[in-house]
Amino acid sequence: MADYERTIAAVSSGLTESGISVIRISGPRALEVADRVYRSPGGRKKLSEQKTHTIHYGHAVAADGSVLDEVLASVMRAPKTYTREDTVELNCHGGVLVTRKVLEALFRAGAEPAEPGEFTKMAYLNGRIDLSQAEAVMDVIRAQNDFALSSSESQLSGSISRKVRHFRDIILDVTAQIEAALDDPEHYSVDSFRESAQQSIREVRAEMAQLSESFYDGKVLKEGIRTVILGRPNAGKSSLLNTFYGGDRAIVTEVPGTTRDLLEESVRWSGLSFLLTDTAGLRETEDKVEKIGVDRARNAARQADLILYLIDSTESREDFSSEDRDALASLSGRKCIVLLNKTDLAGEACAVEEEKRLREIFPDFPVLSISAREGLGIEKLKKRMAELFLNGKIAYNNEVILTNERQKMCLDDALQSIDLVLDNFDAGIPEDLLTVDLMDAYRSLGKIIGEEVEDDLADRIFEKFCMGK
Ligand code: GDP
Repeated sequence: MADYERTIAAVSSGLTESGISVIRISGPRALEVADRVYRSPGGRKKLSEQKTHTIHYGHAVAADGSVLDEVLASVMRAPKTYTREDTVELNCHGGVLVTRKVLEALFRAGAEPAEPGEFTKMAYLNGRIDLSQAEAVMDVIRAQNDFALSSSESQLSGSISRKVRHFRDIILDVTAQIEAALDDPEHYSVDSFRESAQQSIREVRAEMAQLSESFYDGKVLKEGIRTVILGRPNAGKSSLLNTFYGGDRAIVTEVPGTTRDLLEESVRWSGLSFLLTDTAGLRETEDKVEKIGVDRARNAARQADLILYLIDSTESREDFSSEDRDALASLSGRKCIVLLNKTDLAGEACAVEEEKRLREIFPDFPVLSISAREGLGIEKLKKRMAELFLNGKIAYNNEVILTNERQKMCLDDALQSIDLVLDNFDAGIPEDLLTVDLMDAYRSLGKIIGEEVEDDLADRIFEKFCMGK
């Protein structure tokens, strides 16, 4: 166990008016401190004499013996606790003032105020969780959608840690083989395992690269998919936003060019968040304000993770307008769905024909028929939008996905070192130099799980936590 002498206390449930608030006390003197504040109905029971994982009714009292609140005290002895230290949790009535008073009484009784994230830091320092799991704790708390929650729950249970340890094991194995051959050239020769070592490194590199590449999708899915609705004026962009939103969020008119600024809404389905942005219609215009709107639309499109491009099916279909062609050409290679709108007016046969034609003209993009106003084809569209990310397997996906920026940087450092190793293998560089880069990769990977992390870095990570966690 870490040499961690502090006994700390904080409100773990958030200091707002609520039914119950929870004060957590943790550390070597947690029971002793709690005893000074807790009083049983008969006045004789001591928490420090109770069995682990038991709950006790009583009161919290001030130093002068006056009753502060009615409480339930949970006694949890080390090591089976969140922090692996002795822990007492007091459930008080959830008023802000009463909770503060009980907390103050605990400070007077010898507890110190916990820093943000300090309980989780204790769990880390005491070896119950590693650094990637500690980071996942915060992500679980902050999760805004099902994807973010399930990926951070999986990371909390150690999915990233297991992968990283597996990478490290392989790297260490190869290093050990090389070292053995260098130490004892009479019995081992590097040449005999050169091929297999190279192969192992190549394989581990591929797995590491896959994990690193999962970061982009992971980050987008966690924070919300920035989805921009584009199209010429009157194509039905505001109507589509309203349909997604399920209310009248944007102004819908027959007058082209009414949406001049960007309108944003966050909506959720299939466990994902979509941050929808309606934009000014794309067209050449002399109107100064509209021009700014069009520029903003183009800018938003550049930063988007997904673009919904609307085309009005009732407009002349001889040839698509140059605006549509230019805009879609500039979106090549991006995640984009072309939507043929107002198909309620065009008739089904016409829509099918038109959809086919659009597919031929814009083979890069999926094409769907919808009616934004009547809500036709919207469920299919939603499904398609989700499918563009992680093949739509979000809820039941077992793949480990990296979502933490710091972890991604460490992984990429390790990848760079591995690439050096592979280059040097090819160039026939002496083996002792290979082990230098191998060990660099090993150390960079170690930083993900906190094995090669200096204290100040760990401190910086935990500072970002919320109070009481
Ligand atoms: P925007 O300029 O692209 O935002 O287009 P709007 O959403 O303001 O729609 C322009 C006009 O087209 C409005 O009169 C809408 O009611 C109409 N409109 C939009 N979508 C549909 C649709 O699916 N079917 C029909 N019939 N009309 C639509």
